[in-house]
Amino acid sequence: MYRISSQLSEKIKHFATFPQTGVSLRQMVMFGQNPTQGTLFKASQFLSEELPIRLAHRVKELEELPHNLSDMPSIIRVKNWYAQSFQDLVEFPSKEMTPALKDLAKSLNRQSEMQALPENSPNLAMPNGNNQSGRKGVSLSHSAMDGQEWPVEMHSYNERFTKMIEAVKRRHDPVVTTVAQGILEFKQQKRSHTVDTDIQAFLDRFYMSRIGIRMLIGQHIALNKGPSRKDYVGIICTKTNLADMAQEAIDNAKFICEDYYGLFRGPEVHLHCKKDLEFMYVPSHLSHMLFELLKNSLRAVVEQYGTECDEYPPIKLIVAQGKEDIAIKISDEGGGIPRSGVPLVWTYMYTTAPSQHLDPTFDKSDFKAPMAGFGYGLPISRLYARYFGGDLKLISMEGYGTDVYLHLNRISNSDEPLP
Ligand code: ADP
Ligand code: MG
Repeated sequence: MYRISSQLSEKIKHFATFPQTGVSLRQMVMFGQNPTQGTLFKASQFLSEELPIRLAHRVKELEELPHNLSDMPSIIRVKNWYAQSFQDLVEFPSKEMTPALKDLAKSLNRQSEMQALPENSPNLAMPNGNNQSGRKGVSLSHSAMDGQEWPVEMHSYNERFTKMIEAVKRRHDPVVTTVAQGILEFKQQKRSHTVDTDIQAFLDRFYMSRIGIRMLIGQHIALNKGPSRKDYVGIICTKTNLADMAQEAIDNAKFICEDYYGLFRGPEVHLHCKKDLEFMYVPSHLSHMLFELLKNSLRAVVEQYGTECDEYPPIKLIVAQGKEDIAIKISDEGGGIPRSGVPLVWTYMYTTAPSQHLDPTFDKSDFKAPMAGFGYGLPISRLYARYFGGDLKLISMEGYGTDVYLHLNRISNSDEPLP
């Protein structure tokens, strides 16, 4: 089993004292537009420092969890993954860079300093620039990198760095289920069924941070894989078509629903959306949210009317386009939720479905439960919405049905939330 040496532990503590640096959707798109080996190298320099800082904050938090939650075996496993990835990331540049690349990294760093780098940094390289909130920011300019001759070994360094962060991402695939497992171990030990609000808040921060880390890694991997598909910058689609995405989520959710309940024909979903409505977003985040919300509505309707029903009341999915927001409303007539139960639906692991067995293999790319039963659908979807400055709300009319409102920010320059 992996063990954290005391030397590594000190290093992690040190990195955890540095503030994390936010990257907005717009910044990522501007940076990734026409990447050269030089800009990709610079991005790898940024990640070599930003990712360890973010990971170090998480290790620290896992160590300081209340009520000996930090002693649960699954929580220790997760902490070790974070520490191991921290180590992989901080050691990579010094191990893998040739002297020429090290010189280049230093000179890039000096250029950054000349462009007024506000805070000192734990290593050498740190991209320049400031964002509104006064944190260190990501430089959006390619100018420092343009028109130079790159050392021949840069390409291979970029490739190896990308492989390394791919392995880090894979290592963390089972984090959501393993943390959930840790909470279960804790509940069993305490013989309690509820999860305290401080643990809820921890999970919100922890999973939000995971979304951010995976976004940065995913984006870097995609940019390094060469020219992306049309209208894509890395994993961001600058023209995400809402009608297409919604229809795909409807088809997938209906398929799962009919399969799960053994229905010949499940509830219909009526889509009201302009065919040409497009905006900049990460399609995988959007489909995750729509899929989870639709599954909830389908389940509520089927359970309200029974599996023998010939004609279910349809679910409505309405998309509105404003200047600031894209708003999506999903309305069902599935009987709603008692008012006292509404706050519970936002808590992790709260479900009224038969509990699903925790299986880390479900966690392949992101957390996708089959029909229901993990109690992660709503809270994780709300984190995705909030990650890019949106939000998710639920209004219930007990005895009739539920409306969920998903607001997505169109301006896409909101500061990244950094728990
Ligand atoms: P899961 O679907 O795994 O139970 P979620 O977080 O998606 O987890 O939902 C939590 C709970 O909220 C559900 O088990 C259900 O009781 C309630 N819920 C969510 N959406 C609806 C809805 N549209 N109508 C009625 N109840 C709902
Ligand atoms: Mg659900």
